[in-house]
Amino acid sequence: MPIESRNPYTGRVERRFRAFSWSKTERILTQSHRAAATWRTTPFAERTRLMRRAAELLRERQDELAHLMAVEMGKPIADGRAEAVKCALCCDYYAEHAEQFLADDIIKTEARRSFISHEPIGVVLAIMPWNFPFWQVVRFAAPALMAGNVGLLKHASNVPQCALALEKIFHDAGFPPATFRTLLIGSDLIEPLIADDRVRAVTLTGSEAAGAQVAATAGRYIKKTVLELGGSDAFIVLADADIEVAAKTAAQARMINAGQSCIAAKRFIVEKPVLKEFISKMKTHLLAFRPGDPLSEGTQYGPLARPDLADELTEQVNDSIKQGAKVELHGGQSQPGTALFRPMILSNIRPGQRAYDEELFGPVALVLEAKDADDAVRLANDSRFGLGGSVWTADVERGEALARRVEAGAVFVNSLVKSAPEMPFGGVKKSGYGRELSYLGIREFVNQKSIWIA
Ligand code: NAP
Repeated sequence: MPIESRNPYTGRVERRFRAFSWSKTERILTQSHRAAATWRTTPFAERTRLMRRAAELLRERQDELAHLMAVEMGKPIADGRAEAVKCALCCDYYAEHAEQFLADDIIKTEARRSFISHEPIGVVLAIMPWNFPFWQVVRFAAPALMAGNVGLLKHASNVPQCALALEKIFHDAGFPPATFRTLLIGSDLIEPLIADDRVRAVTLTGSEAAGAQVAATAGRYIKKTVLELGGSDAFIVLADADIEVAAKTAAQARMINAGQSCIAAKRFIVEKPVLKEFISKMKTHLLAFRPGDPLSEGTQYGPLARPDLADELTEQVNDSIKQGAKVELHGGQSQPGTALFRPMILSNIRPGQRAYDEELFGPVALVLEAKDADDAVRLANDSRFGLGGSVWTADVERGEALARRVEAGAVFVNSLVKSAPEMPFGGVKKSGYGRELSYLGIREFVNQKSIWIA
């Protein structure tokens, strides 16, 4: 893939970048590895001061960052600002809590004193996707830097300006430059990087295919990985739920980032007595979303990040219709090769259809009919993915009981799935493994060392 900013709304190439050679990449790795040796010795107070400054810069530069997101991957400007502010919150969160999260865990044994210390491991390679180009990186970088690690970022090839803006934020905040570097490289340089002993671990947020390949390489070289992959989150609506609220939230949950969110609700599993009402209300709410230029303030959803992604989604939809899915709301691309994709609803979703078996990464809502609550859980779990899910019911105790039975990394009752710095984030099954955020996230890339004093 060329490393370039191509505005998906206008189709215009804004900037092109020459990919770093291996020798340049290797030079940066040498500097990062050297920086890791000193960065690990900086006191928490110093790391905290710099991380708080990074948070301030994210807030101060929110307009500029939102502009970059709009022109590189089509995010509406207001959503881009919100993403920058959320990144700032994450930086503040780890600035405040990292020291406590990484404090020694005292363990009672026969020793005079025994405890687990949490020590930095060194250079961590982060391979990141374009959909939340700042948030995905910050939720890795803030805990990694606070833990005393250093980060090397290989961002998606269509968001190079976002990648460079983030590097600049950490540098302007005062972090030693080699503690966080952006590598403008294609995925061809990932294998030699992982093979290098100085890279200690890899985190990847992206597709199942990329995750499998990177994890295989990391396995060959005995490197720890965290994988945040795709999802096809279930949104279970029981007959006793407030259908108006559920349908309105369903539309929001499906339209997050023009449908390009790993934790967007994708499969709407609805008890039969309320199925028709739910579809009709969700249709009304989906049609109320305003498309447009991501740079215009009133736009609620922009184009997909690249025209080829819209073409691929159209193929998935068309194949599913041929396989028996029924169109409840017409939408989609106006013509092939264009990035705008209007919301759609498909029903009659059955095993063997692409819509049932694959992740649809765009604004296509899949509606499945459930006979009862048990059937809804069965359908929710009949998926290769297990990232998030939600349950809608007037009976919150029943909601909680069902939430425990859904195979996913996070289940919300009467709320859409969202990430928050305090709560762990990650998946099961083909959605990946490992956790980001919370105290669990910062402990993924540390040496959990046993110390025993006899
Ligand atoms: P992607 O194509 O897998 O790309 C993600 C990153 O991996 C990019 O930096 C990409 O670089 C790189 N990459 C791709 N193939 C690679 C390979 N063979 N070896 C090494 N690196 C490789 O995913 P995407 O289309 O950007 O993102 C959409 C997917 O990400 C969806 O499945 C979505 O659900 C998932 N996602 C998951 C989470 C989560 O937290 N679980 C969050 C967001 C997105 P290039 O751009 O250069 O190809």
